Amino acid sequence: MATSNVTQVITERVRDAEINPYEMMLRQLDLVQEYTDIPRGIWRVLRAPERVLEVSVPIVRDDGEIDVLTGYRVQYSSARGPCKGGIRFHPGVTADEVKALAGWMTWKCAVVNVPYGGGKGGVSCDPAQYSQAEIERITRRYTAMIYPLIGARRDIPAPDVNTNAQIMNWIVDTAQVLSGEAVPGIVTGKSVEMGGALGRREATGRGVMMIAVGVLQRLGIDVENARIAIQGFGNVGSIAAQLLCEQGAKIVGISDVSAAYHCPTGFDIGQVLAYLETSPGHLLAGLPLAGVEEITNDELLTLDVDVLIPAALEAQIGAHNAHDVRARVIVEGANGPTTPEADLILGERGIVVVPDILANAGGVVCSYFEWVQNIQCYPWEEEDTNQRLGLVLQRALREVWGLAEARNVSLRLAAFILGVERVASAVMMRGTFP
Ligand code: NAD
Repeated sequence: MATSNVTQVITERVRDAEINPYEMMLRQLDLVQEYTDIPRGIWRVLRAPERVLEVSVPIVRDDGEIDVLTGYRVQYSSARGPCKGGIRFHPGVTADEVKALAGWMTWKCAVVNVPYGGGKGGVSCDPAQYSQAEIERITRRYTAMIYPLIGARRDIPAPDVNTNAQIMNWIVDTAQVLSGEAVPGIVTGKSVEMGGALGRREATGRGVMMIAVGVLQRLGIDVENARIAIQGFGNVGSIAAQLLCEQGAKIVGISDVSAAYHCPTGFDIGQVLAYLETSPGHLLAGLPLAGVEEITNDELLTLDVDVLIPAALEAQIGAHNAHDVRARVIVEGANGPTTPEADLILGERGIVVVPDILANAGGVVCSYFEWVQNIQCYPWEEEDTNQRLGLVLQRALREVWGLAEARNVSLRLAAFILGVERVASAVMMRGTFP
């Protein structure tokens, strides 16, 4: 595919550059400016996180040695409601990564119109190096260190990369010990027995499926037999795979941190999930299925498919590989998987990118439902949750799609315009204290 001089220049310039997710988020935000009449002072407010907390997290290892990890909690904006966003345990966690993720949460909550601001947290660590007892100690100490910031009316964490319902349960318990009160609404994504919402574990993957189906229908691509590749087979990727299979799509590529596989006839996702239950580290490596070829993670991103779903980490599709992507549609399950340079290249090549702040918003919508249930002490049926999730996401997709058509802009720009304008309105209505 031929590329213009502009993209060639950009490609050369950024090929070897270190991608900073916070700069990436700010560049996406800045693109909105020319499409809105938000006053300059308000822009300055929107470009800066409200609060950034860095904490040290000392933990006693099983052998008695003490390690000190670094953790963060960022509250990007509380203009539209309490801050909301997941907690990540990963060696790549930095202040800038958490600031970027908190910013994306702010625009995402506004796009789907739930009454939240945006936040995010993380601990820089490789969970594979720690025992379960050590992970519990990391979680509890990190919770104690960020405790002054979090709360059902202040800032509500949730699961993200390498964190899950069990870790949310420990956060609730630690907060309860510190406060002396039952505080189920302090996090979402906890176990159902602890006040978690039925359907929350599946909600992000379900949302990815719902948005993918809605976009494919609008583009006139048949979901039945659509060929799909998914990078990352954790909470988001594996559930999206399962639910898209139920819609008749064929998952022809899957990967995780350990391996990537191609199966042109379509994986039996049930068999893959059964393998993961007992595989070492619950990883895909060694997948013993007939008709499956091992490929690299780079090759997975460039498979000849209808839909590519990056569902792992940021900056996976950049200037270095955007020219080679062969998917017709990219549905961003992960946060920030496509760099602004890649966006430009993909746009020129006519590849439709469904942005993270819409595509993976099912998780936060269901988190909102969980929080409402905790505040009201009134649990919902799973069907209610899934039905309401569908209504919220369909409305958001309709609004973003309509705006993209009306303004003749990409879906990412349309979603950013919608979200950023909503946050800017709230900032203006509040005024600036004092
Ligand atoms: P997870 O820890 O459950 O899964 C992450 C998956 O990515 C794992 O399979 C891991 O092996 C894989 N992975 C990691 N590095 C990789 C690499 N370099 N190449 C290929 N695969 C790799 O995390 P998750 O909750 O599924 O989150 C995945 C993404 O979705 C993140 O960007 C997260 O911020 C985003 N997200 C998650 C939620 C949620 O509710 N969990 C909501 C919205 C967005």
